[in-house]
Amino acid sequence: MKPVLVLGHGQLGLMMAAAGARLGLRVDRLDTESEELLPGTSPMRLPVTAAGLLETYPLITAEKEHLPESELVETLRAAPAWMNRQAFLDLADREREKQLLDRLEIPTASWCLLSSPDDIEPALKALGEHMIIKVTRGGYDGRGQWRLPGDNPDTLPAESFGAMIAESLIRFDREVSLVGVRGDNGNTRYLPLAENVHHDGILRYSIAGEDSNPFLQRQAETLLGRIMDELDYTGVMAMECFEEDGRLLVNELAPRVHNSGHWSQLGTEHDQFALHLRALLDLPLPETEYFRPTLMLNLIGCDFVPQWLAIPEIQCHWYGKEPRPGRKLGHININAASMAELRDVTARLRPLLDEEHRRMLDEALAHYKRESDNRRRQD
Ligand code: ATP
Ligand code: MG
Repeated sequence: MKPVLVLGHGQLGLMMAAAGARLGLRVDRLDTESEELLPGTSPMRLPVTAAGLLETYPLITAEKEHLPESELVETLRAAPAWMNRQAFLDLADREREKQLLDRLEIPTASWCLLSSPDDIEPALKALGEHMIIKVTRGGYDGRGQWRLPGDNPDTLPAESFGAMIAESLIRFDREVSLVGVRGDNGNTRYLPLAENVHHDGILRYSIAGEDSNPFLQRQAETLLGRIMDELDYTGVMAMECFEEDGRLLVNELAPRVHNSGHWSQLGTEHDQFALHLRALLDLPLPETEYFRPTLMLNLIGCDFVPQWLAIPEIQCHWYGKEPRPGRKLGHININAASMAELRDVTARLRPLLDEEHRRMLDEALAHYKRESDNRRRQD
């Protein structure tokens, strides 16, 4: 089977390489900053040339949408091996992404471009007195965002005017995301919606694995299907949404595997990484899926605790990155057949977490209980 090159060498590429190994696939990663190749899941680094890469890899994908505008990356992106050119053009830039959603008449928070500081006052009036300002390129985990009123508008970087949008603040009931996959022949599959909780713009935990609200699920699938069709997309795409009174507003789209899909590593037989590779290689996508309700807890800025591994019911992923406050360093997937079992597992995990993660775990547990009570009431 064809070897795959992933632009980027973070945890998403690492987990994609690991998923590829199950199928005997060669999936190598490119550090787009240092321009070195990391073969498979190895930390070993090899020098590369653009010509060498193009000769070796007939399929090039990426784990991030913000890529440096270097000669090497531009050469790779000009090659026929580069998948999903249109999606990366449209989705790596928030202004273009919003224009795409508007063109498709897909609900999203109202927005406008901020070309100069003079646009701020009119934007506040037009968008409802509460807004979030976001840089159009390069923001992630809540970076490159400001809230008005609240943040001082004088702290907006002068050079970013023209490359910042303002959008109305949505008083959402929940944040959910959908991971979908579209094969080379245009057929699609979807995972059940994940419910996501963010603090300070960073995803803390997701709960997923059950098609608990078929109406919302169908609504999400229809929206993402239209977007993937429009972009003639191949692979996994994630759609983050706000749910407001049973209606979905699309917040943002990622033309790649996504943190809110990590639960699928334990909650399904074919996780998002395997699905992405299957689609790229035009391999069969599984017809039916069996899902297990799963809780995914992100491990952010904390130390690795070997004793996590002693709990048999949890699946621990540690990315081997340099620890830094606010940095995603790993995640834990937990699934349990019942609330009682989940309580039992989390009771063993809890003492092994720092205070911040304990708080997140308690919050997630309460959340999970609320959801399963709701489901029982619906049944
Ligand atoms: P990611 O790391 O997922 O790419 P990001 O930093 O690029 O995230 P967003 O997903 O747009 O940016 O915003 C991060 C979080 O901020 C959202 O998940 C949501 O909790 C909150 N947020 C963003 N936009 C809005 C909005 N218009 N109204 C209310 N909350 C918002
Ligand atoms: Mg987001």
